[in-house]
Amino acid sequence: METAIVVRSGRNDTAVRLKSARKRTASSRQWIERQLNDPYVREAKDKGYRSRAAFKLLELDAKFRFLRKGARVLDLGAAPGGWSQVARARIGENGIVVAVDVLATEPIAGVTAIEADLLEPETLAQIKAALAGPADIVLSDMAAPTTGHRATDHLRTLALFEAALDAAEDILKPGGTFVGKVFQGGASGPLLARLKRDFSSVRHVKPPASRKESVELYLVATGYRGGADTEHRKQGSERGSDP
Ligand code: SAM
Repeated sequence: METAIVVRSGRNDTAVRLKSARKRTASSRQWIERQLNDPYVREAKDKGYRSRAAFKLLELDAKFRFLRKGARVLDLGAAPGGWSQVARARIGENGIVVAVDVLATEPIAGVTAIEADLLEPETLAQIKAALAGPADIVLSDMAAPTTGHRATDHLRTLALFEAALDAAEDILKPGGTFVGKVFQGGASGPLLARLKRDFSSVRHVKPPASRKESVELYLVATGYRGGADTEHRKQGSERGSDP
């Protein structure tokens, strides 16, 4: 059996190494060691967050302050639930959080979880029913399982990002906020043009909790310029500016 050695130096626990790596591949050994040595993993455990990803949303919200009291929030790609926990705590008891994932999300008090694929056409109707009104914030941390092939992973994440943006533009209130995960250099040219057309501010952000070696970035778009069928969107589509 493997044994973990913890070297303590002063206040910090450092350099956890697996003594024996029998029956593990190098990459699984590296993953375990990285988890054991990651301060965000430890802090998430200490604070009762289900994922270290919770800190990315906390850091994004510290910068942009979009999680306001009483907000109606849609969390796409929510499992295991770190972002939903943060959103729930920030918006207070009068807010609404709807969490969607293809995987089951263990219940979180005050969060409506929907186990569904956003890419399936019927999912949007389920989301609208659960939100019971236009959303103030749409969050998407959706990511497809990585293949290791960068271009493929980038395209799959971009497709999820675009699906999240489609959903956001269908359900956001005017003035609303969209936060979505993208890979490698951010949104593509046409998607970025669409975002800039439909939101008053668009920023790419790498929160400190996002691992340096990860190619993920978050796109924060604030000030949604209209409801689902506003004239400017229809005109934009007619001009062929949608990707
Ligand atoms: N934000 C989450 C948290 O704080 O715990 C972590 C999200 S995890 C990085 C990405 C999630 O996206 C996975 O749970 C995955 O199942 C979900 N996902 C991927 N494709 C999806 C799709 N088509 N519809 C819904 N969820 C999807």
